[in-house]
Amino acid sequence: MPRLTECEFCSKIPWTEWAKKRCLCEGFNLDLGCGEGKQKGFIGMDRRAVPGVDIIWDIESVTPVPWWAREMEDLGAKSSPWPIPDNSADKLLCSHVLEHITPSVLPAVMDEMWRVMRYDGQVLIAVPHGDSYGFRQDPTHIAMFNESTMTYFDPAHGLWQIYKPKPWLIRRQHSSPYHNMEIVLEPRKKPDGTPIDIFVAQEPERTRKKKRISR
Ligand SMILES: [Zn+2]
Repeated sequence: MPRLTECEFCSKIPWTEWAKKRCLCEGFNLDLGCGEGKQKGFIGMDRRAVPGVDIIWDIESVTPVPWWAREMEDLGAKSSPWPIPDNSADKLLCSHVLEHITPSVLPAVMDEMWRVMRYDGQVLIAVPHGDSYGFRQDPTHIAMFNESTMTYFDPAHGLWQIYKPKPWLIRRQHSSPYHNMEIVLEPRKKPDGTPIDIFVAQEPERTRKKKRISR
């Protein structure tokens, strides 16, 4: 493991006082929005400096929106460059976090996850199902997820064309409308960090059938 002092980038990460600082460039596991329940073997990033958090950062970051996304600014979009090197994370855990972020920011946040992931990395996302009692009971839950939500991020599905985010592969998805959803994603990414060219579904999937008008 390279020593931190040798890495200009990682020495500038906003580490907590108690974090075991190190260079992340050669690979690490990231627990996003870990709070006080960080997974063993993971670096924890959270906007609150609670015990276990290694890096203080708001997932919905604070920097200005880039010029090409200005018209999205009124809708609440923010750009989110996290203080994490490109192509560095082996595993990314996102447990009961995404339901708390501004829904219109999700494509930007997912793009940021894609940037920090290694080409052979995996993301595990756990969220309450949008139809569940668990989703509705918490007043800070604002983003709803169901079985179709992640298809907006996988170009094998027509809904990807709505926002055209960085391409993911939905490797596995388990859901219960009464409880939680667990999703495993892999970035469609080459070892050099560029996207893999894949077939893009041409037509958005129909979400409702047209009524036939009888005369
Ligand atoms: Zn580094």
